Amino acid sequence: MLTAALCAAACGSPNTPKAILQDKDVEAKVEKVLSGMSLEEKAGQLVQLNISTLEDETREAIDPAKLDKIIGEYKVGSILNVMHDKAHSREHTAAMVREIQKKSMEVIGIPCIYGLDMIHGASYINEGSLFPQEINLGATFNREFAREMGYAMAYETRAAQVPWVFSPVMDLGRDPRWPRIWESFGEDPYLQAEMAREETLALQGDDPNHIDLEHVAVSIKHFMGYGVPVSGKDRTPAIIAENDLREKFFAPFLECFRAGALTAMVNSASINGIPTHANAVLLSGWVKEQLGWDGMLVTDWADIDNLFNRDHVAANKKEAVAMGINAGIDMIMDPYDPECCTAVIECVKEGLISKERLDDAVRRVLRLKVRLGLFDNPNWEHDYPDFASSKFSAQSYQAALESEVLLKNEGILPLKGTERILVCGPNSNSLRTLNGGWSYTWQGSADDYVPQYNTIKEALEKRFPGTVNWVPGVIYEGADWQNDVIVDLQQAVRAARDADVVVCCVGENSYCETPGNIDDLNLSANQKELVEAIAATGKPIILVLNEGRPRLIGDIEPLAKAVVDIMLPSNYGGDALAALLAGDENFSGKLPFTYSKHINALHTYDYKVSEHRETMEGSYNYDAVMDVQWPFGYGLSYTKFAYGNLSVVCPGGEKVSFGPSDVLKVSVDVTNVGDRAGKEAVLLYSSDLVASLIPDVKRLRGFEKIALEPGETKTVEFELPASALAFVGADGRWRLEKGEFRISCGGLGVIINCTETKVWETPNI
Ligand code: BGC
Repeated sequence: MLTAALCAAACGSPNTPKAILQDKDVEAKVEKVLSGMSLEEKAGQLVQLNISTLEDETREAIDPAKLDKIIGEYKVGSILNVMHDKAHSREHTAAMVREIQKKSMEVIGIPCIYGLDMIHGASYINEGSLFPQEINLGATFNREFAREMGYAMAYETRAAQVPWVFSPVMDLGRDPRWPRIWESFGEDPYLQAEMAREETLALQGDDPNHIDLEHVAVSIKHFMGYGVPVSGKDRTPAIIAENDLREKFFAPFLECFRAGALTAMVNSASINGIPTHANAVLLSGWVKEQLGWDGMLVTDWADIDNLFNRDHVAANKKEAVAMGINAGIDMIMDPYDPECCTAVIECVKEGLISKERLDDAVRRVLRLKVRLGLFDNPNWEHDYPDFASSKFSAQSYQAALESEVLLKNEGILPLKGTERILVCGPNSNSLRTLNGGWSYTWQGSADDYVPQYNTIKEALEKRFPGTVNWVPGVIYEGADWQNDVIVDLQQAVRAARDADVVVCCVGENSYCETPGNIDDLNLSANQKELVEAIAATGKPIILVLNEGRPRLIGDIEPLAKAVVDIMLPSNYGGDALAALLAGDENFSGKLPFTYSKHINALHTYDYKVSEHRETMEGSYNYDAVMDVQWPFGYGLSYTKFAYGNLSVVCPGGEKVSFGPSDVLKVSVDVTNVGDRAGKEAVLLYSSDLVASLIPDVKRLRGFEKIALEPGETKTVEFELPASALAFVGADGRWRLEKGEFRISCGGLGVIINCTETKVWETPNI
């Protein structure tokens, strides 16, 4: 049992329930090591450097003199990243880590902890298994894929001697302009929390005190509110109401802390004017004290420097170091500057950081290393027979199949197999675009690494031999990922005339973080021109969207007979698409975000009732229309599902009334009324009909993915604690208010009545 266990000897107030139940042997080891450490050794444990500080001139190997300096003299406790910003073989990575570890044990007697950005599989290892990005896993609404990806990622990362990943990502993708929305599971807090928890458990295993050799420590990120910058640009300020912060943005983190997440990485930007790295209320208050969490908080890239360089809340490095550590930071990712160790030492000597805070931070770093078994086993021997196995490939393919979303189908799909097909568009022949960022390199470069996988064009050629012609029309060109150019548009148009159907693959090239910033959410003008030119031939278009965020297509969508959003489905995404278009497989993905239509009308599905004409009975309407391209949770299938018998039963069997401590039992029948087998994500929503703060129009409260044969009916049951219907009030406290709620599922609705108001005294429920 990981949650709610009391343990007297840890951080926070003595009565704080611990997010992780401590193990006395782990704690004894931590205290023993800590008691023998010098100030210099302690400072070193709080610093993490980039591997480039150890590279020789080839950028492929470690320079022994640098190793002497960084580990030997500065006693740095952690290293991250890959040499030369590229994937290496498992053996290369393992040998590099062993070399660092050997030095660390010799000169400090404390193992170094190595960390890597693996967010959709072991993406920095040449032969590693990649899965669809998290945004795609969100679209599957299937927890199994989060578990499978988490385990495969842990296993293959461990196989390369790396015990720590900066994953899962749980920034809510609530602003489609932001270049990192594809790194997380979508816009909804519940979906995000459920998937991230499953991934965390799969990555770490179920005993956070003893991580075994097939699991790794997670760093859930980026704590928190990173995903809604006012400007839409990465690493820029956000303004978030405190009740939203608690109710929505904190939800996935809370779930993962309670599941035993061992480390968290902090939001690089700021909330309400406070850089998150200096936010003691959030870091020390919400996480460490309120949750009694004894894990380790690591900064994001150079974010202590950003406190003085960028944010101007500290005058110099020393002030910034003290500010961050006093706010609750335990490890500083200061990629290139070992002098950060000196700054920590000076801060302690000058009393800017207390010895108690220093020791608390060091304890947290040591505890992580002990929990990972690194003291006993700084380098391990273990067989990894499933590394890059067909088992993981099959899971990745299956996840891709369930993640690609059919958004429109005017009778053209599935293809008959006899059509002459033209494939065009800049995303038609690229593995890089199928994978997105954090794939082999930071910005993504799968084409250079894994030519053995099939692009969309190749997969279609294999599935429909002899019928596929390929003319891209537009290609990505140059160092700038956004730069697409028209190359052979007229040739594409001519080819379209000779085809029966055109699969037009548009979207984005791969990107990550600030290089992915854009000034216009519309799909590029060149790509729209391509679609328009093809449409002018009168040939039916299947529009395939291969993109990390929903680029606006309101003007060209009517030109397509079918639309499929494949997002970033990874190496098997082309094969999955071919199987789906052919009808060998059925679509079952649903959008994990709202696909907006207009640039000045970017919405999430849980908008306020007062934003929408239909929910504004009796008030001023003006033009408050919620006009989106496709709503959250939307996705078509080749079959049809009918919902019936939605019922909500309260514990006493009474149908309509419940109190705050009741658990509601919701059930609904789903029938496949079409003539093909299919899977359906059953989504359960609630709406608070009257509340003391303007309620969200609806909120996702449950989901299950089921498979149904033609004619088959299944009853899906959800257990819904009444507390799940609570919201955070203006005073920052959770409250469930008496009055009516609507429970809805598959277009059906039931009104239920809460008989009593409850306000929670604790910050989290
Ligand atoms: C990113 C993080 C990442 C870190 C380490 C930062 O720039 O924001 O997501 O984990 O780099 O590579």
